[in-house]
Amino acid sequence: MTFSDLGLSPKVLSAVADAGYTTPTPIQAGAIPHALAGKDVLGIAQTGTGKTASFVLPMLTRLERGRARARMPRTLILEPTRELAAQVEENFARYGKNHRLNIALLIGGVSFEDQERKLERGADVLIATPGRLLDHFERGKLLLTGVEILVIDEADRMLDMGFIPDIERICKLIPFTRQTLFFSATMPPEITKLTEQFLQAPVRVEVARPATTAANIEQFLVKSGSKPWAKRARLRELIRAEGEGLSNAIIFCNRKTEVSTLFRSLVRHEFDAGALHGDMDQRARMTMLENFRRGKLKLLVASDVAARGLDIPDVSHVFNFDVPTHSEDYVHRIGRTGRAGRSGKAFTLVTHADRKYVEGIEKLIGQKIPWLDGDLSTLGEEDEEREKPRRGRERGRKPEGRKRREEGRAEEVPAPAKAQEGRKESRRPGKEAGAHKKPDRKPERHLEPESETVIGFGDAIPDFMKVPGKA
Ligand code: AMP
Repeated sequence: MTFSDLGLSPKVLSAVADAGYTTPTPIQAGAIPHALAGKDVLGIAQTGTGKTASFVLPMLTRLERGRARARMPRTLILEPTRELAAQVEENFARYGKNHRLNIALLIGGVSFEDQERKLERGADVLIATPGRLLDHFERGKLLLTGVEILVIDEADRMLDMGFIPDIERICKLIPFTRQTLFFSATMPPEITKLTEQFLQAPVRVEVARPATTAANIEQFLVKSGSKPWAKRARLRELIRAEGEGLSNAIIFCNRKTEVSTLFRSLVRHEFDAGALHGDMDQRARMTMLENFRRGKLKLLVASDVAARGLDIPDVSHVFNFDVPTHSEDYVHRIGRTGRAGRSGKAFTLVTHADRKYVEGIEKLIGQKIPWLDGDLSTLGEEDEEREKPRRGRERGRKPEGRKRREEGRAEEVPAPAKAQEGRKESRRPGKEAGAHKKPDRKPERHLEPESETVIGFGDAIPDFMKVPGKA
């Protein structure tokens, strides 16, 4: 198939030929004919697949008819970041070189006045980040009732950044008769809901995600007891065993609550760790990443959602604290190491309950992943019991309430460490988040029983309970 089979205009075809492209990529071949026919498109593709041209080229063709009116853009492209918005503008400049179109970029960090002037002239294409677009709208400088084509790009990243309420608001300001082209690398439930709400009978075009793992990554499965504390103890052993060979690592968890718990536990055990999860705002995430990138932080505990779409630097090790339930996530996670021909190591903790997910991963990558020191059949009782928190293991079952309190205490964090975990402060990026700071005092490894009030005994604590806790 060639570009001329897709129905693009001669002006666009000529610019594509000048760019040196001869064959459309799968997302282009799948999306362009439908976009040209005026249909809504749901494109599931990530950056690097040629997805930008898959909406820019048909938009250029369709914009050849008609002209823009002051303050009423004809098309709107929403991007999560300034950098992506600027990239899309470059694409319009390259492929639209035979067109005379007014393109306006509404992004933060640029003066409102310059942007207003462009809007006033009438924009054929408006490329914006959601927050800045709404700021202009609220200042009364923009009418969205003339928008014929709406593009929502990198929707899952918008979700990560807390932009979904803004997107919903913007969608409601644009006429129902518009065409919507919607792109996302993944389809978490929130995104599916959004597409159901705002797309009309969309044509779904899905591009396969990379299913191969690099040959220079050493991969291992590591048997583990199923209890959270057993997994955490196993992880610590693995990290320590790697010694100097581990320069930095990302530790992936399936849930953000697990990210928090594990991060706090690692800090408590005096590891140099930070956390990255979906509840942190963009600023806090960027600060955390910057610290990691600069080597100020050795271990980064992260969820898939938090890590997705972010430019995370090359790392020497990846640990999967949880086996990913979606096999593709495994490929993406371990792809964070072994870049540019360097070697990397990826360890995955596996419990009995994870077996079917491991099978799915091995099927996807077409290879068996070796076990580090024996498979699950060699899992002993000590693996399950490993570092069970608190004392009194031998004394039989404890009442539930007390057990819960003790587990909670085992994960208590010293105050400075808490500052490393950014708090969500705003649904829009831009607000200050707690800066990353290394704890300046050593975390307390043993909690003094005397300092705790034991519920149910009032202030009188029996001597048998004053046994120092085990770390
Ligand atoms: P994107 O996924 O839009 O970020 O594009 C990734 C890269 O692929 C960009 O550098 C594009 O210039 C390039 N590209 C887009 N379409 C094609 C094509 N049909 N053939 C070769 N490269 C392309």
